[in-house]
Amino acid sequence: MKTVSVIVPCYNEEEAAPIFYREFLKRTAEMDCQWEFWFVDDGSKDGTLAEFRALRAQDERVHFISFSRNFGKESAMYAGLEAATGDYVAIMDVDLQDPPELLPGMLQSIEKEGYDCVATRRVTRKGEPLIRSFFARQFYRLINRISKTEIVDGARDFRLMTRQMVDSILSLKEVSRFSKGIFSWVGYRTKWLEYENVERVAGETKWNFWKLFLYSIDGITAFST
Ligand code: UDP
Ligand code: MG
Repeated sequence: MKTVSVIVPCYNEEEAAPIFYREFLKRTAEMDCQWEFWFVDDGSKDGTLAEFRALRAQDERVHFISFSRNFGKESAMYAGLEAATGDYVAIMDVDLQDPPELLPGMLQSIEKEGYDCVATRRVTRKGEPLIRSFFARQFYRLINRISKTEIVDGARDFRLMTRQMVDSILSLKEVSRFSKGIFSWVGYRTKWLEYENVERVAGETKWNFWKLFLYSIDGITAFST
């Protein structure tokens, strides 16, 4: 049986983490695979780490990494990718905005249709402040004009990848990572799934306008001349 590693970056997510774990297993019950969870505590100041310990105590498939401070989601994803040992690797937000019920179909596409990756993008920006949507659209227009790497508008970090694709990603040792670009840059056959934006299950967003703006600068400096 194949092992699927699930990487879950978490920053101050004491509320969402146990909900994610419970809902994940419920919504993927039909899947015929072995799970390996990698929860990454990105320097949380709340009880996130204690929640991880509690999950680990009841389930040996749960593993966790704890950062010494908040390094950002990119670093958390990278640490998770390095730790994961699965045949396939998924990256998921802990707030259930990345629906676990999509995973069975994603795995099927890789195993039966010959894809190396099934990636997701949201097709609406409903519920998001207009000003943010405006700047997001401008960012994607600009980056795709100046970069040779395609950066897909609305792409989420939620994706399932084969081991060979993960190894290619890990061969890039960048410090200032912009994964939306890296995933595209390494190539491989990728299938895109689209879905409507889902509300966060608990807690609140960890991104503000300024953080997103700085992140867009990372994208531009990493993927253009
Ligand atoms: N996250 C993280 N480090 C950070 C910010 C966010 O690990 O510095 C995690 C967060 O806990 C969540 C995921 O990244 O699991 C996405 O964050 P969030 O839901 O706040 O982003 P949004 O969905 O609002 O874009
Ligand atoms: Mg979210």
